[in-house]
Amino acid sequence: TKFTDLGLSAPVLDALAAEGYETPTPIQAQAIPTVLAGRDLMGIAQTGTGKTAAFALPIIERLAANPRVAPRRGCRVLVLSPTRELASQIAESFQSYSRNLKLSVAVVFGGVAAGPQVRKLSGGVDILVATPGRLLDHIDGKMLRLDQVEHFVLDEADQMLDLGFIHAIRRILPMLPHRRQTLFFSATMPKAIKDLADAMLRDPATVAV
Ligand code: AMP
Repeated sequence: TKFTDLGLSAPVLDALAAEGYETPTPIQAQAIPTVLAGRDLMGIAQTGTGKTAAFALPIIERLAANPRVAPRRGCRVLVLSPTRELASQIAESFQSYSRNLKLSVAVVFGGVAAGPQVRKLSGGVDILVATPGRLLDHIDGKMLRLDQVEHFVLDEADQMLDLGFIHAIRRILPMLPHRRQTLFFSATMPKAIKDLADAMLRDPATVAV
């Protein structure tokens, strides 16, 4: 499989070439067409498999194919990540893959001042990557709403549960529109994770690598 076979457009293919990517990884080859088709996805994959691009590339395509002004104090894409390091890496990946498009990307996590994050969110962003606790702080402070989210990604679900974020996730889920695309990633799939996935996915395709 080649990136050109997966349904990606020239601006994204050019960004991948600039990044030095030549061949899609197995999760990318399987997930990209599924996500482009609008289906929910359950991805069983570890870090290092290329899973970030597997969700970021088709989401960027879907945003570009359906241009819309980002909602004030809102976002079109929400990615939840368990740690600030991973959140920052995911945001950088979205930036780099969308370099030839006009999309805004923001990242919010705890342990740093909220003010700059609030300013960035106020006008709305296309893609928001967040850790759950700081996300809820912004929502509780009326600085952010999730009712315009079109694509929701829960990354490293097993890490989320290990780090005690289940309560935060259960608070966030009902704030999302019912009509959305959900992508769920976990390295392992014990029963608690499977139950969480079942609660948030609708007729998902499963990809395991
Ligand atoms: P991830 O599993 O998303 O953390 O990605 C692991 C690393 O692989 C990151 O440094 C990516 O930039 C890189 N990567 C992802 N997809 C590809 C690809 N198709 N070709 C080359 N490198 C890639």
